[in-house]
Amino acid sequence: MASITFLGTGGGRFVILNQRRYSGGLWLDLEETVAMDPGPGALIRALQFKKDPQKLNGVLVSHNHIDHYNDAEILVEAMTRGMKTKRGTLALAVNALDYVSDYHKSFVELITAEPQKKFRIGSLKIEALPTSNHGGAVGFRFHSKHGEITCTADTAYDKELVKHYKGSKVLIMNTIFPSSKEIDVHLNTRTAALLLKAVRPKLAVLQHFGMTMLNCGPEKEAKKIEEETGIRTIAARDGMELDLETLAESMPVNVRQSCLGSY
Ligand SMILES: [Zn+2]
Repeated sequence: MASITFLGTGGGRFVILNQRRYSGGLWLDLEETVAMDPGPGALIRALQFKKDPQKLNGVLVSHNHIDHYNDAEILVEAMTRGMKTKRGTLALAVNALDYVSDYHKSFVELITAEPQKKFRIGSLKIEALPTSNHGGAVGFRFHSKHGEITCTADTAYDKELVKHYKGSKVLIMNTIFPSSKEIDVHLNTRTAALLLKAVRPKLAVLQHFGMTMLNCGPEKEAKKIEEETGIRTIAARDGMELDLETLAESMPVNVRQSCLGSY
């Protein structure tokens, strides 16, 4: 089954420090198996949600903030079967190149993920996408036979970004704040809706929630976006798995109870 699993839906310093939401990034089972933005706990969450890190074919890092790169090295260790064999691809944003050791980089195919650069991990075609006002971060587009999947990573809104997301089946947006809080380096609910209205995917997924967003209720914010745009919008939860054929979401049984409610 082609799917995306959320190894963590937390974002911002304090949510990461207290793990009110996990911070493991995304796990994509497409033509190849890829982890994107492995923040603190990515290895542990992958194992918790029954994903085998030794099956990874690629690790992607969108930028050099710790909630996006922290577990990159340990996932490389898994991908290379304990650094026994050169295996897999590590794609790093330019500003994250120095955040992974030369030792780990020497065991993988290393890609510098500059905006609009196209590359492959095995049979999976990927494109790095530009972002706005987030210190050189890149988003990613996965050209999968299961549909075009795009992830914004951390970015502000800029209408110039819209064209890079056109044709998305699923658009995943790091929406750290609710509409009541404006910030110039991240999306909030209001600006996520702007991007969504212009791109018009089949499904939008919000993730990477900060403390204010969690206090507000990501599900409520997703509902607001859905009503405003007419596009199905869901707030991701830790451990949630999205089936890319049916676009149905499911939760594993071994997720902590607190993730099941709206908190
Ligand atoms: Zn960031």
